[in-house]
Amino acid sequence: MGCEEPAVLFRVLVHHWESQSTINDNNHEYFDFLSSNDVSSVSRIRSTNDLTYLCSIACSYSAKATMPFSHHSHSGQFCPGHAQDALEDVIKTAISKSFHVFALTEHMPRHDQDLYPEEVEAGSTFESLTQNENDYVKTALELREKYKDRIALPLGFESDWCGQHSLELIERSIRTHPFDFFMGSIHHVAGVPIDFDQADYDRAKNLAGGTDEKLFERYFDEQLEMLQATRPPVVGHFDLIRLKSSDFNTDWRSMSDVWTKILRNLDFVASYGGILEINTAALRKGMTEPYPKSEICQVRAVHDSKNH
Ligand SMILES: [Zn+2]
Ligand SMILES: [Zn+2]
Repeated sequence: MGCEEPAVLFRVLVHHWESQSTINDNNHEYFDFLSSNDVSSVSRIRSTNDLTYLCSIACSYSAKATMPFSHHSHSGQFCPGHAQDALEDVIKTAISKSFHVFALTEHMPRHDQDLYPEEVEAGSTFESLTQNENDYVKTALELREKYKDRIALPLGFESDWCGQHSLELIERSIRTHPFDFFMGSIHHVAGVPIDFDQADYDRAKNLAGGTDEKLFERYFDEQLEMLQATRPPVVGHFDLIRLKSSDFNTDWRSMSDVWTKILRNLDFVASYGGILEINTAALRKGMTEPYPKSEICQVRAVHDSKNH
C-alpha cells in the first residue's frame, strides 16, 4: 500500500460507536475490520478500490496505535436521544472488544433555541444540559480511574455549532472541565437541525436556496466558520450533510461549487493540524461509505504526497 507517511488527516481512525447495543448484524463487518490489522479483511468488506484504499490508510495508522480505538462515542446515560446503555457498560464492552483507546465524547450543552425537538419534548433546557455535562465529566473521571489499567479513556466532548453564539459555550466547556480534546461537529444549518428528520432537513434546504446543492454549500460555509472559530483537534463526520439528501451516495466531485468548498475546508483543517474522523455511523444508516466519502480522503492523500 505504500503508506509509510499517511496523510495528515488520517492520524486517527475513529469509529463512531454509540453503544454496545448498536453492535448488531449491520455493524459486525465493520467491527471485524476495526478489530483487525489485516488489510485483506477490509477488502472483503468493501470491494471498491477507493474504500479499500481509504481503509488501508486507516489500518496502517491503527496498526501503529495497536488498534482498535475510537475518538467518538455516546452513551444512553448522557445522550439518551440517540444512544443506549450506561457509560460504564459501554466502557466494559469496549474493553471486552480489546479497545486500547476509547475516547468519551458526549455532547456539549446548547442554548434553548438550539435544542432538538426530542430534547424539547423531554423537557431538556440549557440548565439541564449543563448539569448533564457536569455529571458526565464526574462519572467519566471516576470510570477512567477505575479502568485505567485496562483501557485509555481520553475525556472529550462533541461540540455543536449553531452559529457564532455557540462559540461562548464551546469555550465555556473547555474552560470549565479538564477535557483532553474535543471534536468539532456541525449538526445545524441556518439554525435548523439537518440530521434529525426530513421535515427539518427540508426546512434548512429552503432557507439555503431550495436545493440539496445550495444546502451543501451553506453547510460547508458554516462548517468553515466553526473550524476557524474553534480549530477542533478532531473534526466530526465531515460530510454529515448528505444524510437526509435525495441521494446520499452522490460523488461530491460532481458538484463543482460544493467541491471547491470541501477542498477549502480540508486545506484549513490541514493548516492547523486537525484530524478528520472516519465515522461508520453512515454505514449503519444505509450509506455505502463512512463519513467522509472516499473522494474526500483521496484528495487529502494526493495533496499530502505532493509535499513529501
Ligand atoms: Zn456524536
Ligand atoms: Zn455528531
